[in-house]
Parts: sequence; structure tokens; C-alpha cells
Amino acid sequence: MKIRACLSCGASLTTRRADARTCSSTCRNRAARARRRTPVPPRMTAARRWVRWALRLRGASHAKVPLTVHGGLASSTRPATWSSHADVHTASHGAGRGFVLGDGVGCYDLDDALHRGQLTGWARTALAEISEPVLYVEVSQSGRGLHVFVSAPPGRGSVRKVSGGRIERYTTGRYIAMTGMPYTLPAEVRRATPLDVAIASTRQEAAWTTSPASQSVA
Ligand SMILES: [Zn+2]
Repeated sequence: MKIRACLSCGASLTTRRADARTCSSTCRNRAARARRRTPVPPRMTAARRWVRWALRLRGASHAKVPLTVHGGLASSTRPATWSSHADVHTASHGAGRGFVLGDGVGCYDLDDALHRGQLTGWARTALAEISEPVLYVEVSQSGRGLHVFVSAPPGRGSVRKVSGGRIERYTTGRYIAMTGMPYTLPAEVRRATPLDVAIASTRQEAAWTTSPASQSVA
């Protein structure tokens, strides 16, 4: 079993229940406030690209398997098995919701980007190098990784090993098991990214929709 950390503060959860996501009621409440303050942006929730997911034993290890809202097997390449965010949000099968990448939304997957809730050096560099507009950043299931959702056209995925970590980038044919636990990037990294991800989601969406064409109408 991989080491898990509190989604809010990064403390170890190894002695906690298997489904524990936070280390204390304080962190649970803080996580709930953060989710309300920075929800998953409408650019993603408006897309009919949502699934449920569950941990299933595959060989010797557990894999995150995508499920439909009815609990059957879903596939990141079969749109008929995807649902709206609202339907996935209220469905109870599996452990949580997942977003199928594509239609202009890609994701950087940075395993072990966080150590006790703090950005590691390699992850700081990796984040500063992201050139696409950032839509949303969240802490991953382990509490130690980051998902950085970006605006990107569909293309080939990539895995890049860097000193200290690994950077995976996908734009289609994959789904991301989400926590919905937003991560606010440090100011110096934020300055280096194209879009200020710390701003409220409503403004984030405004930034997304304010293309030159729509600006001329305003
Ligand atoms: Zn905690």
C-alpha cells in the first residue's frame, strides 16, 4: 500500500482507516471550506465527461477502475459510459468521481510533488515550466501528488522523468480520479503560470471564456 497523506495538511495517514482522506476534524473542515471556495471550474463540470471510480485488485496491486453512474465498467475511450457532473456527483458507486480528459482539457500528473504538504523542488520547477493556461490544480488521492488541469488540444501523452520525480501529461484517452481538493500554488510559481489559479473559480471561468471574440462583444 502506498503511503497516504492528509489532503489538507500533508500529515501521514498510515495509521488511519483505509478510506480516511484527512487527519483530523480540523483538516476535514478546512478541506470542505477550500472546496467551497475553489470548486472544480465550470469548464470541467459543464462537460459530459464524468465517471465514478473504484479501487480494484489487479494482479498484486490495486488499480483505479472507471465506473459508470450505475456501477458498471466505464472506459475513458467510450463516451457512452460517461455522464454529467451532476449525475456522477450524486451517484454512490465506487470511491469518488473522475474526469475523462479530452475536448480541450488535459492534465499533468505529478506523483510525490508534495512532501508534508509542501511543494518539492522538482515539482516547483515542473509547475513553472507549464506553458498552457491552468484551469484547476488539486491534490491527488495519495495526498502527495498534484493534478494540474490545463487547456490543451488532444495529442499524444508523455512521461518525463526528472531528478526526484516524474511528470506525466495526458490530453485524451485517460481519466483522472479526482479529490476536488484544490491546491493553491505558491506565488512565485503562480506568476510563472499563464493563468492565476488562485483566483476565484467564477473569475477563472471568466478568464477562460474571455476570448478576443467575446471581448469585442462586451
Ligand atoms: Zn491534516
